[in-house]
Amino acid sequence: MVATAPQTGPGAIKGALIRAFLVWYQGRHGRERMAELIQRVPMPHRAALSLERDGLGVLVNGWYPAPMVHAVLDTMEQLHGSAEMPALLREGCEHATAALLRGVYMLLFRMVGTPQMYSRNIQRAWLKLHSSGERELKLLGPDTAESFIRNWPDHHRWTCLVAHETLRFAFRTMGYKQAEVEVHECVSRGHAHCRATLSFRKG
Ligand SMILES: [Zn+2]
Repeated sequence: MVATAPQTGPGAIKGALIRAFLVWYQGRHGRERMAELIQRVPMPHRAALSLERDGLGVLVNGWYPAPMVHAVLDTMEQLHGSAEMPALLREGCEHATAALLRGVYMLLFRMVGTPQMYSRNIQRAWLKLHSSGERELKLLGPDTAESFIRNWPDHHRWTCLVAHETLRFAFRTMGYKQAEVEVHECVSRGHAHCRATLSFRKG
């Protein structure tokens, strides 16, 4: 495993994010469910996962192929059903992101601690955890922003939802207790890129 994202082949996702999510999943749904999940993930994608190892075998500083993450999320969908996935990912993102922000990624949060900083640094922050994809957050007013994800060859409907949930959670963490994301365009629905609006209020 290397500390920087691989430059060739399929895109990659940082181990820290995958690990935080899977550790939450096991805590929430139990070791047996986790064992079933790992067993059902098709090879070669499950090779990196182990119930016996710390953090399910996922290395914080490793980069893992995006198709592995897609396989894990698709398997989660088979186990839980599509209808449950948005709520599951929302809860998982909140816990995983909070865990990351308590750890080494606290520095990252300082980069994105206000809407203006988030808007300025979203691409840099994104590339700490993903090897591809262009992120843009345009502030449209004091309580509205428009989010874009472009040129993301590793787009997948569930990781796209994770990106939007993470955005929402980041704003909640900044103190905007009411933060909602509405997705208007998504590559999964045949659009050229993913566009969402974010509304955020403190009250
Ligand atoms: Zn999308």
